[in-house]
Amino acid sequence: MSNIDLINKLHQEGALDFDEFKRLLKTFDQNDFDYAKKIAAKITEQIFKNKIYIRGLIEISSYCKNDCYYCGLRRSNKLALRYRLNLEEILLCCKEGYRLGFRTFVLQGGEDEYYQDERMVEIIEKIKELYPDCAITLSLGEKSKETYQKYFNAGADRYLLRHETYNREHYYQLHPHEMSFDNRIDCLLNLKAIGFQTGCGFMVGSYHQDIDCLVNDLLFIKELKPEMVGIGPYLVHQNTPFKNQPNGDLKLTLFLLSLIRIMTKDVLLPATTALATLDSNGRLEGINHGCNVVMPNLSPQEVRKKYSLYDGKAASGQEASEGLKELIDTLKTAGYEVVYERGDYCKFDYEG
Ligand code: SAM
Ligand code: SF4
Repeated sequence: MSNIDLINKLHQEGALDFDEFKRLLKTFDQNDFDYAKKIAAKITEQIFKNKIYIRGLIEISSYCKNDCYYCGLRRSNKLALRYRLNLEEILLCCKEGYRLGFRTFVLQGGEDEYYQDERMVEIIEKIKELYPDCAITLSLGEKSKETYQKYFNAGADRYLLRHETYNREHYYQLHPHEMSFDNRIDCLLNLKAIGFQTGCGFMVGSYHQDIDCLVNDLLFIKELKPEMVGIGPYLVHQNTPFKNQPNGDLKLTLFLLSLIRIMTKDVLLPATTALATLDSNGRLEGINHGCNVVMPNLSPQEVRKKYSLYDGKAASGQEASEGLKELIDTLKTAGYEVVYERGDYCKFDYEG
């Protein structure tokens, strides 16, 4: 079977086995890359027309109790600038976001114990009370099932928790042993069981990642059936143990985005900030390869630089809420329409 046959099989059957994915990732050439892009774009067009959903990203805290080796917010980074937003500050971000037309707010942050359950529930309830027509996505890391349930009961709709890698050994090459691969996966299963629109995902090009890791990541996505998938390139941060590791590869990231679209069909797939940071055209390229979500930054200007996951993180221009008009124009020129809807996951009966 040629690589084109494999891409066709993925399109028709929604699955490949381990060896088939491995062969495709190992041997794809420019022709295969272009073909996957074409099929991914066709599927995206059939399901979402030319609509791109926008979400307002509010980075609520740069404190983190964890020590992931790749991330600038890790607790051992003594040079990191720390901040956290309180209820009033978060509400101000939502107010501005609502005015600009956002109908989803994504609250993301390090694992910061300041946000005990009661505090987080109050934040979620207040946003829902003031903006009942908006969706709330949370991305606050690993919590107990009880805590996730409280968030859900308070009105949170979606939860993003990248699995980071579906290879146990690789997981512990990226994280200290105080963290747990099994717990990460259990968290995702709990989120799904509670009823969250759930997002998993991984970095492309993280240290020690090989093709087998990526194949396992794709197979895990197939098995979990998430409503959202977040992938982006690994990018270096100078104050981490991985400071000498190269950035992830643009082309491989784009190829994987296409494969994820072809495999899952209707998943919500953001063109990430990391992709836009790696390449000035990265966001649009991501969309051309199957992405259908963008998440401009709504955090207060004065804290944006402090939420430093990796060096040079894009947080202005079209990556920022102030640049929304410019972003809309860029996407319009490329044939896409930014829509002001909640943009919930909708199961689509795809027939090809
Ligand atoms: N703390 C929560 C968590 O880890 O799930 C949410 C925030 S965390 C900053 C969000 C994502 O940023 C992580 O899942 C990770 O994949 C990504 N990230 C962290 N450091 C990165 C880096 N150096 N390059 C690219 N992505 C990175
Ligand atoms: Fe903390 Fe998330 Fe960064 Fe890990 S990736 S150090 S959990 S903010």
